[in-house]
Amino acid sequence: MHIGCPTEIKPQEYRVGLTPNAAREAVAHGHRVTMQAGAGQGAGFADDDYIAAGAAIVDTAKEVFATADMIVKVKEPQAVERKMLREGQLLFTYLHLAPDPEQTHDLLASGCTAIAYETVTDASGGLPLLAPMSEVAGRLAPQVGAWTLQKANGGRGVLMGGVPGVGPARIVVIGGGVVGTHAARVAAGMGADVTVLDRSLPRMRYLDDIFAGLFKTSFASAGNTAELVAAADMVIGAVLIPGAAAPKLVSRAQLSTMKPGAAIVDVAIDQGGCFETSRATTHEDPIYDVDGIMHYCVANMPGAVARTSTIALGNATMPFMLALADKGWRQACEDDPHLMAGLNVHAGQLTFDAVGKALGIDV
Ligand code: NAD
Repeated sequence: MHIGCPTEIKPQEYRVGLTPNAAREAVAHGHRVTMQAGAGQGAGFADDDYIAAGAAIVDTAKEVFATADMIVKVKEPQAVERKMLREGQLLFTYLHLAPDPEQTHDLLASGCTAIAYETVTDASGGLPLLAPMSEVAGRLAPQVGAWTLQKANGGRGVLMGGVPGVGPARIVVIGGGVVGTHAARVAAGMGADVTVLDRSLPRMRYLDDIFAGLFKTSFASAGNTAELVAAADMVIGAVLIPGAAAPKLVSRAQLSTMKPGAAIVDVAIDQGGCFETSRATTHEDPIYDVDGIMHYCVANMPGAVARTSTIALGNATMPFMLALADKGWRQACEDDPHLMAGLNVHAGQLTFDAVGKALGIDV
């Protein structure tokens, strides 16, 4: 199969769909790989790295789209890219179609077959192509939160681990899923005093078992949440209710109970955020102040560490990408129901129930 990978063109997107290692494996499987010149640059991969892996380099996205059988990307195709998709072409990338009728209509009109990273499943009911980005955002959260807590950034001027004779920062993580667990691990590793709030007792049992005292767990009742948030130096929002907007768990009125200069890192901002006062920010201007509480609410946190994120995503997508290339999408999906779960669009037909329901289109 001929696999093509264009440069991402969505603003502030520095990741790339194929790493040189993924290109090398595809070539070793007998496939042809074409990269757009400079596609890997934002993630620290030079064209020469791809050439050494056996890929060809072309100047424009147009050449990639015109010749490849499968396009591998990171973000959903932008309007100009959607115009270049053609009937029978395979698209493998994040799509997030439910809130995006324009993209959905363009993909249907193109006649392409589109497999969305975010709906591919695994045997334990997880989302294996979303998990790596939650791991990245979770581990990044205490790092950006620690920076937010510094005095010059408007924070309380508190050091995560304290020093001998001075206690550590108190960190509260709301939601103990993938993001929350990775955030709690890193915050505890920095020496902070960490409590994870969740409403799932099985999840808290698991965390307690595995992390054996590295951090505390607490049931996320409104009372416990209010008490812990008031005493915190940093609160990390990491809740998810699948398919729904994030619940607002901390109100504006509660900010007045918090310590002046405390930091909020709302990782759940991509689902609307779990603090009433959250609004999405960018890497250029990540922090704002509401009532003396510093908010960090960047909606695409993994973009800050594009190289780590690209490699982590590539590790997760590679086996699926190879299966699609080796067998063709139909056989690969027939052999693997978890890959089949990723099929969103085929030959002008929407094939994913939740997207159809959200957009009022027959599936
Ligand atoms: P997850 O499903 O693994 O974990 C969510 C956890 O929230 C679960 O343990 C669940 O029990 C808990 N929860 C649900 N309702 C709760 C409540 N009312 N109180 C306390 N806990 C509650 O999800 P995840 O992968 O950890 O993702 C968390 C959020 O982070 C999602 O909104 C996701 O989209 C977002 N995210 C954002 C970025 C970013 O760049 N900002 C990157 C990756 C993920």
